[in-house]
Amino acid sequence: MNYLSQLCRSIQPYQAGEQPQDKKYVKLNTNENPYPPCKGVTQFLQDFESERLKLYPDPENKALCDKIAEMHGLKRENVFVGNGSDEVLAMCFPTFFDRDGNGVAYCDITYSFYKVWAKMFEIPSVVIPLMSDFKFDVSAFKQAKCQGMIICNPNAPTGAIVNRLDLIAIIEANPEKLIIIDEAYADFCNCSMANYVNKYPNILIVRTFSKSYSLAGARCGYAVGNEVLINGLKTIKNSFNSYTVNALTEGIAVKALEDKKYFSSCVDKIIATREDVSDKLRELGFEVLPSSSNFLFVRHSYKRASELYFQLKENGVLVRHFTASRIDDFLRITIGSPEEMKVLIQKLKLILKA
Ligand SMILES: *Cc1c(COP(=O)(O)O)cnc(C)c1O
Repeated sequence: MNYLSQLCRSIQPYQAGEQPQDKKYVKLNTNENPYPPCKGVTQFLQDFESERLKLYPDPENKALCDKIAEMHGLKRENVFVGNGSDEVLAMCFPTFFDRDGNGVAYCDITYSFYKVWAKMFEIPSVVIPLMSDFKFDVSAFKQAKCQGMIICNPNAPTGAIVNRLDLIAIIEANPEKLIIIDEAYADFCNCSMANYVNKYPNILIVRTFSKSYSLAGARCGYAVGNEVLINGLKTIKNSFNSYTVNALTEGIAVKALEDKKYFSSCVDKIIATREDVSDKLRELGFEVLPSSSNFLFVRHSYKRASELYFQLKENGVLVRHFTASRIDDFLRITIGSPEEMKVLIQKLKLILKA
């Protein structure tokens, strides 16, 4: 069978967080939202006529694009939707970067999918290290020699943020480069740059329904940007799959955007829990990096992260541990409900006492 594997391209894929099916965990490993989607989503699913599934969805997802445009004060032509923001980001690579160009710049410690897409589409990577305190190196990005860049803001897995003035300085220093801002967690710090799209034609803002809208299972993400960039993405998408966002997902996402009050209440609760848990973790001897997202990046004063990860798992609590250098003594802990975080703290106390 060896020849069959030789028929397949070998590449090191992105490793998503575990989605265990064996037992019920307190699941704090993939930054999902602990709260259910809004009532309008439930109602939509109840009312959905399965007959509609006979037909293909609207290939342009106009209803959803209009809703997103309205939220950001933009036009339908400024919006591109996809099957999760991972898909939107993946499509950015063949759309905007050349194999023989100056490459795509991103941080050494950031969303590790960027590296995979660069490899897959054979685009050179320009890796810019975070500074020693895990802060973003603004001047390195201002001067980077590259075709374009991806900035994850707030960053994953550190939770750190680049402030607006620094971002603007980077954008203005690079008027002819594409600057992609991955805002998967921006709702947790109110730091979106989406309303700068008309001012800066070279920025593309990528966002998702998976985290702040509690819709990871629906798979929906989007980009907003100048119409020319959006048309570039559409060309690549239509060369790959005409129907990336299915009819159910489109309807669900529209409903999620309609309930702003519920959305804000969930985000506010998560932020409050984040601050409370940060204090409790510090009392247990953890260094907790300041977080602007729905997760914490923490390191214990003496207990190794890999051990903590396994012991928490044995105790029914799942968190994320990365083995990459510089961060292998950290754990990334998603902010769940107050009840879930209480279990986390209880189990940690138990483990640290033993
Ligand atoms: C979760 C996440 C995504 C992907 O979100 P989906 O919309 O679920 O594909 C993209 N970027 C970052 C930094 C993320 O954490």
